[in-house]
Amino acid sequence: MKVTSAEFVISAVGPAQYPEDALPEIALAGRSNVGKSSLINRMINRKNLARTSSTPGKTQHMNYYRINERLYFVDFPGYGYAKVSKVQRAAWGKMVEKYLAERETLKLVLLVVDLRHPPTSDDKMMYDWLKHYGIPMCVVATKADKIPKTRWPKHIKIMKEALGVQPGENFIPYSSEIGLGREDLWNLVESMTAV
Ligand code: GDP
Repeated sequence: MKVTSAEFVISAVGPAQYPEDALPEIALAGRSNVGKSSLINRMINRKNLARTSSTPGKTQHMNYYRINERLYFVDFPGYGYAKVSKVQRAAWGKMVEKYLAERETLKLVLLVVDLRHPPTSDDKMMYDWLKHYGIPMCVVATKADKIPKTRWPKHIKIMKEALGVQPGENFIPYSSEIGLGREDLWNLVESMTAV
């Protein structure tokens, strides 16, 4: 997709602030620092629209980005950040769970994981949770450029097995650095948001 406009809309702390124009939403879930902001920036070919955070876990907000006046990317607060308190963690869980369960304009969740490492228990929990609720998802395994291409197949296999990704389910190796997977991901996003 040719991106002609991309704008930050709101950092929402709850449903009252979610946009009401009913455009389809693509949500990104993943642990802090996994590369969600970088993924968005690469998708829209902007260096810095989505903030790449030097202090992971700081944002407890849902960041909305409107693309081509046609859809939203919704960046969830990252999970699994050690310095977040139990209370904050519970609040995070509640907000995200409510969004995932009730948001009618949600079309697809991108579960962003790090191709270099096996999934964390939080990644696995999120995968199982999305599956349980039948929410359309795509596992996006990013930072592929950080390992040699010859080792991609092995890492992809480990990731799929550990998460329980079945044949035919969406899985895209990605790199915000070199643009790997961008076309595939746009094709998927377009197919899931077509009207
Ligand atoms: P977020 O907390 O999930 O939004 O993660 P960021 O997008 O802020 O990325 C965290 C760090 O990983 C930053 O230093 C990024 O430059 C780096 N990073 C993210 N994606 C990639 C990638 O695909 N390749 C490489 N080499 N670095 C990446």
